[in-house]
Amino acid sequence: MFTSELSMAGLERARGSAFKTRLAQLIAQKTDAQTENAPQWAASYFDLISQWLAPLSFTLEQHGVPGAPFLIARRIEDPVLPTVLTYSHGDVVPGMEGDWAEGRDPWTLTEAGEHWFGRGIADNKGQFLVNLTAVETVLAERHALGFNLIWLIEMGEEIGSPGLAEICMLQAKALKADVLLASDGPRVAAETPTLFLGARGGMTFRLDLEHRESGRHSGNFGGALRNPAIELAHALTSIVDRNGGLQIDAWTPGHIPDATRAALKTITPAGGAVDEDWGVAGLTPAERIHAWSSAEVLALHAGHPPAPVNAIPPKASAWVQLRYAPGTRSEGLLEALRTHLDEAGFSDVTITPEGPSFRASATPVDHQAVKRLSGVIEAESGQPPAILPSLGGSLPNDIFREVLGLPTIWVPHSYPECSQHAPNEHLPKRLLFEATGLMAAILGSFAGTKPEDWH
Ligand SMILES: [Zn+2]
Repeated sequence: MFTSELSMAGLERARGSAFKTRLAQLIAQKTDAQTENAPQWAASYFDLISQWLAPLSFTLEQHGVPGAPFLIARRIEDPVLPTVLTYSHGDVVPGMEGDWAEGRDPWTLTEAGEHWFGRGIADNKGQFLVNLTAVETVLAERHALGFNLIWLIEMGEEIGSPGLAEICMLQAKALKADVLLASDGPRVAAETPTLFLGARGGMTFRLDLEHRESGRHSGNFGGALRNPAIELAHALTSIVDRNGGLQIDAWTPGHIPDATRAALKTITPAGGAVDEDWGVAGLTPAERIHAWSSAEVLALHAGHPPAPVNAIPPKASAWVQLRYAPGTRSEGLLEALRTHLDEAGFSDVTITPEGPSFRASATPVDHQAVKRLSGVIEAESGQPPAILPSLGGSLPNDIFREVLGLPTIWVPHSYPECSQHAPNEHLPKRLLFEATGLMAAILGSFAGTKPEDWH
């Protein structure tokens, strides 16, 4: 599939035993960001990868805000060359020990047929190693990169990237670059090289409706007393209609640009495993996920589900998550919900924001850096990459786009079936090897360009 010496060299290097050994070492680090041991594991993780970065002439500095350590690795060949900022996260979601098939240990790299298993192999340790190996390939083949490379590594992505925006502001000079090129998330399919350019924003909130202190007998009062569970259900259907269509215009970008529509034309999200008849009318499933906003009920509560009693519940609650597309105004989202509920007759439903929120952001599909890299991928692999205007899920893209002001291009090396955030996280070996070859070619394409070619 590859046409250049660089990509073939990358493929061969990833097939070598050092790649597998390192992958096992990365996975053995129990860098679950949600445990109290997270700081020790973060330190140990930085020690491990520093051993690999330092021999490549990166200068390494650790920075941090309380509870959030960062590693900044810089390899400056010449200030007049283009500078690429890349980003990886070393933290993972919990191991979920005991839930993996065939008794697999999440912290041990395990081979089964065509796949390698281990917590973090897809999200994001394997993708980090692919990119590191691609850098090594370019250096081995050419003895220089032909560009400057800055690597920012965090240990808290899975808990909402605490301190990342702050570090980007504090270290703006050390992180100054022309473009962000990073790897996380899945390709649209294992065989389809993919670029994505941003991410939807997200916010979660709780809706509560409480009418009285305790339940009332459903026989003695039923039919003559407001039921908060029924009323809250109506409030929810005023937000998302019977067919899954979002009803709050202020939560949407209003329209989809032509270039975005064109890029999404050939995309079949989730391998087609979606409900064609669910969602905003007039949009394709790809447009609904990658270019429009959606609201989902994450949980609902009223009464006592494990053992219902014959009573009208006193209160009902729903946890709702909004995912909003780039182009949506990120200010005033909850105020728009308040206005909407008031107008729909649900003034007594209260709104409480919950958990971290993240802003939508994306680089335009027709940006010159996107065209360049898309051309490199097509030349190497014989097929143009799938280009997603934004990832359906979330990433700290807005920090790179808004705080550092960079074009943001993500080259994901995982695939939709990888089981990230679940037991049995895995990747096909072949995908890791080929992604390394492709990434070597992508990195190689920066040599001989000017900084302004990427702006
Ligand atoms: Zn993740």
